[in-house]
Amino acid sequence: MSSRRDAVVVGAGPNGLVAANVLAGAGWEVEVLEAQPEPGGAVRSGELTLPGFVHDRFSSFYPLGLASPAMQAMDLTAHGLRWRQPEVPVAHPASDGSVAYVSRDPAETAAALGRFADGDDDAWRRMYGLWQRAGGPLRDALFSPFPPVRGGLRLAGALGARGTLDFARFGLLPVRRLGEEWFGGEGARRLLAGNALHADFSPEQPGSGVYGWVLVGMAQEYGFPVAEGGSGQLTAALVRRLESRGGRVTCDTRVTEVVVERGRTRGVRTAGGDAITARRAVLADVSAPALYLDLLDRAHVPARVLAALERFQFGNSTFKVDWALDGPIPWLAEETGAAGTVHIAESVDALTRATTELILREVPAEPFLVCGQYARTDPTRQPEGKETFWSYTHVPQDVRGDAGPEGLTGRWDEREREAFADRVAKQIERVAPGFRDRVLARHVTAPADFEAQDDNLRGGALNGGTAQLHQQLVFRPIPGLARAETPVRGLYLASSAIHPGGGVHGACGYNAARAALRARGPARHAAGRLARAAAGRAV
Ligand SMILES: Cc1cc2nc3c(=O)[nH]c(=O)nc-3n(C[C@H](O)[C@H](O)[C@H](O)COP(=O)(O)OP(=O)(O)OC[C@H]3O[C@@H](n4cnc5c(N)ncnc54)[C@H](O)[C@@H]3O)c2cc1C
Repeated sequence: MSSRRDAVVVGAGPNGLVAANVLAGAGWEVEVLEAQPEPGGAVRSGELTLPGFVHDRFSSFYPLGLASPAMQAMDLTAHGLRWRQPEVPVAHPASDGSVAYVSRDPAETAAALGRFADGDDDAWRRMYGLWQRAGGPLRDALFSPFPPVRGGLRLAGALGARGTLDFARFGLLPVRRLGEEWFGGEGARRLLAGNALHADFSPEQPGSGVYGWVLVGMAQEYGFPVAEGGSGQLTAALVRRLESRGGRVTCDTRVTEVVVERGRTRGVRTAGGDAITARRAVLADVSAPALYLDLLDRAHVPARVLAALERFQFGNSTFKVDWALDGPIPWLAEETGAAGTVHIAESVDALTRATTELILREVPAEPFLVCGQYARTDPTRQPEGKETFWSYTHVPQDVRGDAGPEGLTGRWDEREREAFADRVAKQIERVAPGFRDRVLARHVTAPADFEAQDDNLRGGALNGGTAQLHQQLVFRPIPGLARAETPVRGLYLASSAIHPGGGVHGACGYNAARAALRARGPARHAAGRLARAAAGRAV
């Protein structure tokens, strides 16, 4: 079968769906082709444990969904999405009964952090003050295509010459150092470091500080909201919006080839043998290696790009456990019960130990956990009086050994999955004694299960490529191709592989769609210039 569209979008993750919405809004006829049986990519939910318990199967908390101009432009609440806000966006308890947290109320956040050391309440006010001055321009710079000239100028304007220099240093600090420079107590330090470790940083890596600061700033300003009824509701709203503009999503349809003739994309071929012509553009919500090494004939990929992709780095793998619980979690620190997101690790030192083990390609003995709980925030997700809960943690892509006692090898067979899920539960017991007694059922998602459900989650990596400095900004996904445009005319990379990277903000898809729309105008030859740049010739 063959058919024709103005644009084909490969992949119905949040970036693919945002891209399709932008194109359909401009009057283009758009079809999104999705390999899986349902749209959403890493934004899907469903019953994994027991009937009546709705689990977010991948992503869950969406400060970026509120903060990013791309998602704001989607106006998803007009298409049926309802946000629900936890009273406490993010909490970090420890086994001594203490808890550091961001409350919706900045004064309460300051008071919570001030309990750890004299002056830490004031330090938080100063740190949040910096967010209030710099956060807006920084956010605009981050979400716009590279290089972010206008956002950068606004940031410099907000901070002044001296402030900009100080901020440049602030931006390079490892999160351990940042915490030590600003705070005397362990609470704020571990709160910042736990947030930084949402990306594949260790507390000693440059750039980890600003990452942690951005997330706690967003937690304070926007909260860490969830989609009522499960993350799939966010996807459903994006699909409804697209369909209301004439676009469509076709599932169970894997794209196996992007067709190129005379340096320009003509459309795609699917695993079922169908050819779909794209009159104007193909936008790929796929990983960078998948686009350049699998979907394109290598004859169309400049040698320099192929060479750079040999150095491409995905982040660590992910291991996730979902539970149906008989009741609320018995947290040692009561305030933890009001949180949506909970981080579990004893201290910054414990985070350093766990991430060092990852660097050594060992399964951590005491893994750092990112967790989500829902009963207080979204009662629609579980039967009354029960709780829906998950934890994910990172494990090496290529396991060399186990820092714990069970001799895990990274095979993740039944024994290893159960043993590591028990290790995860043991970590929770340290801050919530009696947790295991509340368990009604559990479900494990091991690294290969992630990839089986979404090709982009290669080996269980969750951010479309490492978030470390050597693959960020102008280096994302590879040096010299830091935008959506590719060396093939009419072909755009629209996934989290490009700046600004992972997270449900839609900016990658939005910027790719805008690039495709612009290419119909005066900037038509931008792809040609990029092709020459990628081949190492002057532009
Ligand atoms: C466990 C986990 C927890 C996370 N938690 C959060 C969180 O709380 N908050 C947050 O903001 N972010 C979170 N993230 C990150 C976030 O979900 C991703 O960064 C985001 O989904 C990336 O969107 P995307 O559209 O680029 O790709 P994806 O969401 O990965 O979607 C890509 C889609 O393309 C499809 N596809 C790929 N190849 C093909 C092909 N050849 N043909 C057809 N279809 C194809 C895939 O099946 C998939 O549906 C989390 C991710 C994971 C895995």
